[in-house]
This record gives sequence, C-alpha cells and structure tokens, in this order.
Amino acid sequence: MQTLHASKCGLSTAQLPSYILDVIDALTKAGFEAYIVGGGVRDLMLGLNPKDFDAVTNATPAQVKEVFGRRCRIIGRRFELAHVYSGRELVEVATFRAPPKKAVTSASGMILRDNNWGTIEQDFARRDFSINAMYYQPRKGIVLDFCHAIDDIKNKTLRLLGDPTLRFEEDPVRMLRTLRFAAKLNFSIAPDILEVFTPEMTQLLRDISPHRLYDESQKLFTMGHLNRVLPMLIDFDIWRQLFADIDPNISTFIERAAINTDQRIQIGKTINPAFFYAVLLWKPFLERCEFYLNKGMVAAEARAQAGLDVLKRQATRTIIPRFAETFIREVWEMQTRLLSPKPQQIQALSTHARFRAGFDFLLLREKSGDHSTQGMGTWWDTYQLMSTDEKERAISQYNRQRAKSRRKAQTDDVVEPKSVSVEIEPLVQETAPRSRRERERKDRSRPERPVQMVTSGGSEIRADHPILKRKRVKRDLNQVVFGPTQ
Ligand code: ATP
Ligand code: MG
Repeated sequence: MQTLHASKCGLSTAQLPSYILDVIDALTKAGFEAYIVGGGVRDLMLGLNPKDFDAVTNATPAQVKEVFGRRCRIIGRRFELAHVYSGRELVEVATFRAPPKKAVTSASGMILRDNNWGTIEQDFARRDFSINAMYYQPRKGIVLDFCHAIDDIKNKTLRLLGDPTLRFEEDPVRMLRTLRFAAKLNFSIAPDILEVFTPEMTQLLRDISPHRLYDESQKLFTMGHLNRVLPMLIDFDIWRQLFADIDPNISTFIERAAINTDQRIQIGKTINPAFFYAVLLWKPFLERCEFYLNKGMVAAEARAQAGLDVLKRQATRTIIPRFAETFIREVWEMQTRLLSPKPQQIQALSTHARFRAGFDFLLLREKSGDHSTQGMGTWWDTYQLMSTDEKERAISQYNRQRAKSRRKAQTDDVVEPKSVSVEIEPLVQETAPRSRRERERKDRSRPERPVQMVTSGGSEIRADHPILKRKRVKRDLNQVVFGPTQ
C-alpha cells in the first residue's frame, strides 16, 4: 500500500462539496475512520466533474445511524448501506466489507448476501477496478492506494482487481461496468479482461434481475458517452443480453438519438432516460403494429396492442418502470397525432404535456432520413416559432393542403388518427383496448331495454329521440328581423 499526497494527485478540499465533508467530519469526530472512495475520487483525479461522492467507514450501518440519527436510513439487503442526508444531498455511506461467506453465493458463484464487515484492506479487494479503489481522506490530505491505481490513472487503463473470470462470475454486472467506464473515461480495457470477456461469459447476465439490469441500462444511457458505448455493447455481445428483440445494429435514428442525448448532458439539459428506450424499441413497435394490421385490427388498436407487447417482451431483460412505460407509449402515440393532426387540435396538441418529447422524437426520425414523417417534424419546428397570426395562417394552409391530399389518396392507416374531437383524448390506456369482436360480444350480452314512445306534435316518436332533449327557448317575435324574401 502506498500513501499518496492528495495535492500531488490534483485533489483539494476546495473541490469538495460541503455535504461530503460534513459526513466525513461527523464520522471522524465520533471516532471512526472515514474516506471518500469510488467514482468521486477517480473523476476528480481525471479532472472530471464527479456525479456524486460515496463514503466508506469502519462504522457499521447501525453505528452510522447512531452518529446521524434521523438523518440516516439503513437500506439494502444484499448490501446493507447507510443513506445519510446532508442538507439536500444524500450520501451513501458503506461499511468496510470482508470477503463473502461461501454459503451465500449461488451455484454459478454469484454473491447473494454480503454483509460481512471487515478491514479497509479487505474492503479494497472487494472493489471492482483499481481506479475505483482509492481511499481519500480529505482532512488528512492523503490517498491510500493499495494496488498502484495511480499508474492505471496515468496509463488510462481499466484493470479489474483479482482474476477477471472470478470477478465476472461473482457479479456479471461488472461486464456492463467495464464497458461503461471504458466509454466514459475513454480508457483501454486491460488484456486479461478482454481475454475472458466472451459471448459465453455474457450469458451470465441472464441470472441478473431485470430490475438491476434496467438500472444499469439507465447508467449507460445517461453517462454522457452513449454514442461511444453502443458499438461496444454490440462488439462484446452485451446488446443481445439487454435488448433481446432489437437488432444489434445502430441505425441512423439510434445514432442520432444517442448523440443528441450526449449533447444534452454535456450542456446540462435534463434527459428522460426512457426516451432512448422509446427510440430503441421503435422499430420492433412498428413491426408489431404491422403484424396486427395484417391480422385486420384497426390502427389504434394495433398500436396500443403492439406497444404493450413490445414492452412486455423487453421486460424479460430490463424491467422498465410503469411510469417510464407510459411515457414511451405516449411518445409513440404522439407520432400519429403529430403526423396528421386535425387542424382544430393543433393548438391544443402543442401545449400537451407529451408534446415536447413527441416532437423531439418526430424530428429525430425525420433528420435520420425517415420519409414517413412527411416533413411534419420541420412543420412543427417552424410552427412553434410563429406569432399567433402566423400560426393561424399556417393552420389554414395546412388545412387546405390536407383536404387536397385527402382527396388524392387515403394515407396508410398506421399513421391515420382516429379521433375527431377537438378535445385531446388520453394518449394511452393503461390496459389493452378491447377488440372489436369482444365489444360486439359485450354489446350482444347487454339486455335490450324496451323502447318507450311519446306523442309530440301529433306524431309518435321514441322517448330517447334527441329532439326531446333540446331546450325550448321562448322567442320574442318582436326581436325577429325578417329578410326581404319573407
Ligand atoms: P459512477 O458513480 O461515476 O457511475 P462509481 O465508480 O462511483 O461510478 P458506483 O456504482 O457509484 O460507481 O459505486 C461506487 C463504488 O463502489 C465503485 O467505485 C466501486 O469501488 C464499488 N462498486 C460498485 N459496484 C461494484 C461492483 N459491482 N463490484 C465491485 N465493486 C463495486
Ligand atoms: Mg458513484
């Protein structure tokens, strides 16, 4: 083990947010050892902006709770951790871990339960990459380096601690982490990792819960180097494990969406990680729509059912949370609405909660060479920049063109909207729509109510006739102006 001077590694307390220093100070004051570890130290050393800071200590989670009281919550089963709230920030405080006991590993060697507290040396050996295993004590101004991690930082090399085969078997998610860090940091992967990173090895990911894989996929999408990691996912055969039904092929649409995501992150814009899932699953969704249309289903039903099917299939790999699924289906449904809006719906559509995402998606499709958008991406793009008067003119012009092209030909029904009301219907229903046959069956099973007849103006009409629902307004004949012909 070597002790490095923090200042020589480019580290200083001035770079640290007060919330992490508070946590380190409180633990130290209570008589415990406390360090910053992991990505925070690594990123600072590389001159990057750390996403967050994790702390590690020799205090057990229960002792951490004693130090922070109500500011602390103990979470996790496989890894018991303390979550400490410092101001508005949350710091993950882990306890030094010892090697797992044999009894809590699965048949394939995967660690199932892991709450065996240990020393800092043992904790170090449990971490994944050398560059993630440096312990920074900011008040002492030192970094503990147990494995010459500093050389890997200098050489830009990603090196697993211990035997790569064993480390991947223990936790197959480390394969995803390898690609994530290699892409994010632009590091090369050590040869001994490359040697064992085979398609057979990636099969181990099948044992990982789809919830955890979803979380990992989100980290891949939001790290700011999505475009760099996508080809790596294909090359290392990880793609097939994460996205079973999506062709391992980066279309222009996917590539543009990835570049766009990275750019947004770079300039500090928010991104919805589900958006990229909507992009990835768009082709399988269209194919599934086609399948249902060929079976004779009406377009709206085909889209709804196809959306549900595609997301259900994806859930066997990564379980997309319900709110994200709804978002994805709404973005897809928006494509139909934006492509051929009713003129009287245009204004309402442009203020819809899902408009922005739907529009971004449409424009991305268009810019990727998808001619089926019929230029509507650009149309909406221009529309948003117009004054009220210009918007009105644009809508009338659109209306005229639409009437003309409608006369010419009926467009394909995947893109044909069904709704005619000015009020916008919900974009997606939580459950699949009933098929026509089901609806007919239900209607048939409904008992017929006897029709009542009433006499009105001398003739007999049905009691539910709309004319009887009209309000009678008494007219003042003095106010009636008769035209010349009368
Ligand atoms: P970032 O937060 O920038 O994505 P990170 O390295 O901080 O990267 P975290 O997932 O926050 O990643 O984990 C914190 C630290 O915990 C890691 O740096 C590593 O030391 C350790 N760690 C996390 N996941 C694993 C794992 N699967 N196997 C071994 N060690 C891990
Ligand atoms: Mg981290």
